[in-house]
Amino acid sequence: MNSISMLIAGEACAAAGNATFDRLNPLDGQIATRAPAASVDDAVAAVEAAAAAFPGWAATGPSQRRDLLTKAAQALEAKGPAFAAAIAAETGGSAIWAGFNVHLAAGMLREAAAMTTQITGEIIPSDVPGSFAMAVRQPAGVVLGMAPWNAPVILGVRAVALPLACGNTVVMKGSELCPATHGLIIEAFQEAGLPKGVVNYVTNAPADAGPVVEAMIAHPAVRRVNFTGSTRVGKIIAAACAKHLKPAVLELGGKAPFVVLDDADLDAAVNGAAFGAFANSGQICMSTERIIVDETVADEFSRRLAAKAASLPLGDPRLGPVVLGSVVDMTAVARCNELIDDALAKGAKLLCGGKAETTLMPATLLDHVTPDMRIYSEESFGPVKPIVRVRGEEAAVACANDNAFGLSSAVFTRDTSRGMRVAAGIQSGICHINGPTVHDEAQMPFGGVKDSGYGRFGGKAGIAEFTDLRWMTIQTTERHYPF
Ligand code: NAD
Repeated sequence: MNSISMLIAGEACAAAGNATFDRLNPLDGQIATRAPAASVDDAVAAVEAAAAAFPGWAATGPSQRRDLLTKAAQALEAKGPAFAAAIAAETGGSAIWAGFNVHLAAGMLREAAAMTTQITGEIIPSDVPGSFAMAVRQPAGVVLGMAPWNAPVILGVRAVALPLACGNTVVMKGSELCPATHGLIIEAFQEAGLPKGVVNYVTNAPADAGPVVEAMIAHPAVRRVNFTGSTRVGKIIAAACAKHLKPAVLELGGKAPFVVLDDADLDAAVNGAAFGAFANSGQICMSTERIIVDETVADEFSRRLAAKAASLPLGDPRLGPVVLGSVVDMTAVARCNELIDDALAKGAKLLCGGKAETTLMPATLLDHVTPDMRIYSEESFGPVKPIVRVRGEEAAVACANDNAFGLSSAVFTRDTSRGMRVAAGIQSGICHINGPTVHDEAQMPFGGVKDSGYGRFGGKAGIAEFTDLRWMTIQTTERHYPF
């Protein structure tokens, strides 16, 4: 068992009264991690530590912040094996997934480091004679970042990297499902030498999430909130942020459509669909969640995709390399099993995989899925994916948009102009032509529309989210007044 601490004002600490909670391994039920169960007072103390560190950090020059964030990237990379062990123990993720997480998260830290010199403003022509007018970006204050378990290193780092680069101090709330994995990110920041209080870390028992989060959002020092997780909790966070007038970036659920047009390169489409549907056992917000295929190529595409899916190695990630490890818990298994039962009862055809009795769930494809089946519209967030057959381009776009969510999407066609036309018609924050729905790069504007949330992480779009844009003027001549 791994016992971890929180980090408040640079000190590793326990929760009030030494309260703790346990995260169990999804496969064998053993305690993977024992973590502090923060009280509301602990959470407020973390915000106050961040507030105390804010003036000093906001005043640092870009090169100093760049150096520290670059060192944090190196420290994070050096923890590759520790991350792989923590992810396998806490959430059952594979070593491939852990490696990809560390690689992209280190890239996000380096991109954030590079952005420290790109936090620019502008000079704006003024109608007032002699007035020199500027728009200036300034750090906002304390940023509260909340990340989920599914891409734990990427999403944990994303919650804090750009906010720090912009000169904000942060409180990161770890996931109850992977407190040690998120804790390793905090260790990397400490090893890099960030000043005390610039990064703080709070963990809470699942039952305490509501009051702990609300207390932090309500605190006057918190000026920005970001949350990655489900749409259900995202709406709770949005309501709390509205009540306290705090701007938020919300990265929520998805039901990414993957469109295969009649002129698609089917081998490319099969490879893209298999990766997008089954990477990390389908537990990614961008996971391919609805495969929409033109009926003229559907038989051939489905046959090839099923063959590929059935060949993907599945097993306990602690014992050797696999593509599909364990899903996060038995709730995920029950949800996926129900979706399979419902679809089969309503006429879908099982192409490969099927229901599971443990968290080792096989890659599963259901063909001939129709809108009355739950899996057509519900996020499986597991390795169970539907194929919907449509006739023609317009029907494909209509099916892609018949969706409460709008995070990622993909279109496969050999005609790029057609691909652009279809992509333009799909309501989503992200669309890839001839690429998988699962694709993230640190410098890209990442975010969704509709029930997938609002706001953007990454690059310049992220800077706009985590700074205040101020209008400032210098009157260079005598000012004329009407009285
Ligand atoms: P979740 O929403 O169930 O949990 C996220 C966090 O919400 C938890 O850590 C918990 O502390 C907190 N929470 C729970 N109840 C709360 C309350 N009443 N008030 C305040 N906070 C509360 O999500 P999850 O299961 O950890 O993650 C899976 C979901 O995240 C999926 O829907 C997935 O699509 C989404 N996701 C989105 C993105 C993205 O970038 N859009 C990325 C990854 C995951």
